[in-house]
Amino acid sequence: MNIHPDDRGYYGAFGGAWIPELLQANVSELEGSYRSIIASKGFQEEFRHLLKDYVGRPTPLFFAGNLSEHYGTRIYLKREDLCHTGAHKLNNVVGQALLARRMGKEHIVAETGAGQHGVATATVCALLRLPCTVFMGKKDMERQQLNVLRMRMLGAEVQEVTSGSQTLKDATNEAIRYWINHPLNTYYLIGSTIGPHPYPDLVASLQSVISREITTQLQEKENKEVPDYVVACVGGGSNAAGAFFHFIGNGVTRLIGAEAAGKGVQSGETAATITLGSEGVLHGTRTLIMQDDDGQISEAHSVSAGLDYPGIGPLHAWLSQSGKADYMAVTDKEALQAALRLTRLEGIIPALESAHALAILEKIRPDKQQVLVICLSGRGDKDMDTYQKYADRL
Ligand SMILES: *Cc1c(COP(=O)(O)O)cnc(C)c1O
Repeated sequence: MNIHPDDRGYYGAFGGAWIPELLQANVSELEGSYRSIIASKGFQEEFRHLLKDYVGRPTPLFFAGNLSEHYGTRIYLKREDLCHTGAHKLNNVVGQALLARRMGKEHIVAETGAGQHGVATATVCALLRLPCTVFMGKKDMERQQLNVLRMRMLGAEVQEVTSGSQTLKDATNEAIRYWINHPLNTYYLIGSTIGPHPYPDLVASLQSVISREITTQLQEKENKEVPDYVVACVGGGSNAAGAFFHFIGNGVTRLIGAEAAGKGVQSGETAATITLGSEGVLHGTRTLIMQDDDGQISEAHSVSAGLDYPGIGPLHAWLSQSGKADYMAVTDKEALQAALRLTRLEGIIPALESAHALAILEKIRPDKQQVLVICLSGRGDKDMDTYQKYADRL
């Protein structure tokens, strides 16, 4: 069962394209061309070639023996941490950059918060020799100097955003403004399954390579194509969408998304959007968002920058509402403990985001012979400062 939204971009009650008049032409152009381009033989050949030889796919499906013994079940790790630049993000960026080129676009624009999506975008733009502008809040630039350095070394222009709170939401506004003003030659490259239709479907389709590989790899290792559980962390929801994609609605696999509870779901410092959220519109899509009674978006908090988002992709809002997937909230502390556990048991330091998925193992009780796949979305190198800061509390 492959999951795509309806013609208007809706997954049940969620999704759509809630955009200002000025963006209509740009979004319609993309909407009108993405499906046929992605399905074309030429695109698929180019995409698969780069996924294989540049990104490093297929990523291994690693049987984590020590972790399995610890939890008394069969645990596999889908090693997205071994992708070039250290996370699943590159799958999507490679695909969208190739799409942009086939649409005749000559300039890529993106926004970034912590800098991971900006670095992935700058990387692929260097490879494809596409000029690239990344908008980033001034505050984020100060906090993430290494990523600013990386982007500049890769040849991207990093535009400092000094408006508003000088963080991701303001960078998004500036990137969209730029897109509106340069509609003909600019492609706006979104980093997760969020934003107006067709972005959530586009990004989920490009990331679905993750579950396609899992299917083949499980067949080889377990002599079955379908796991009993798939667990992934959700920020905007792209690695989870990719890991769930081919298993949605199969009647066998239990899909679990791990969202960031921050200091606790009721602490006021959280990013547990599905647990706490209500319906509303954010960044061009109708979905679940954290908001107050007046519809003001609440600020999200998580120890992990990649999960620090007050919304969720519309696909996940729908999977949650329809009971096709379950979402559980994981606190900062639980994630840090899970990261240390994986590091000591398997010799793999995970990204803090991925550690949220690992912490789900403490909350479920699979049988001994059941097969779990955990999407290890990224590696922990970028999080060493945080791990060091909290190390004595673990
Ligand atoms: C960005 C990021 C995430 C969160 O993004 P999704 O779109 O929800 O996948 C998760 N893990 C890592 C390692 C990331 O870099």
